[in-house]
Amino acid sequence: MSVNIGVLGMQGDVAENIAATRAALGRAGIKGVVKQVKTPGEISKLDALILPGGESTMMGQMSLVNGAIKTIKDKIQKGMPVFGICAGLILLSKNAKDRVVGKMNQPLLELLDVRVERNSFGRQRDSFEAEISAQPIGIAKSRGVFIRAPSIEGIGKGVQTVSKFNEKVVAVKQGNILGVAFHPELTSDVSWHSHFVSMIKPQNNQKQQNNQKPKQQKLKQNNQKPNQNNKK
Ligand code: GLN
Repeated sequence: MSVNIGVLGMQGDVAENIAATRAALGRAGIKGVVKQVKTPGEISKLDALILPGGESTMMGQMSLVNGAIKTIKDKIQKGMPVFGICAGLILLSKNAKDRVVGKMNQPLLELLDVRVERNSFGRQRDSFEAEISAQPIGIAKSRGVFIRAPSIEGIGKGVQTVSKFNEKVVAVKQGNILGVAFHPELTSDVSWHSHFVSMIKPQNNQKQQNNQKPKQQKLKQNNQKPNQNNKK
């Protein structure tokens, strides 16, 4: 199998995420291409996407202007795995407000059912590193780098809390969406990127599975018809 993974390259720490994802693929023995993407055309070919850390207002505006935001939203709604890191988590959220400034008029994808507080742990000089565990996805211990990090305040029904730090939710999962408030790509530990890679079902693989069972599927369809008629 071979996967095509993109890191949204409008702004932010793109290179570090490309390196961490390549390392995660290598560790899993999965062949794949990991590259920076910007245009709707590039994004439409992806099996998975990382929205990196940076500045969510800037990233959102640039994606809006070149039309990428629409393609990204479409692909995620159709099931493409996405990993939102810090500013990327904010972009994915349904609702975001800054701890000091409050609600801002910034473009959001509005797919992840959470309310995010931007700059929740303070500003640049309040950045810190902390030990993070995420038992629900099998990460016993990792280091999180928090840089003007958000926290997740409100959580919708379908959202799983994956990790907390100081009573604040800092990592969540909702189906094909993984979001973290900190930067795992700034450490040498690739366990978060490895988990993300495990969420990818490449196109090629899906086709193979479909091709393997055409007869069984046909039989099922045939069986269903008389049943449905009986019910009516
Ligand atoms: N504070 C930034 C924002 O609100 C996020 C910081 C980060 O990605 N490290 O967009």
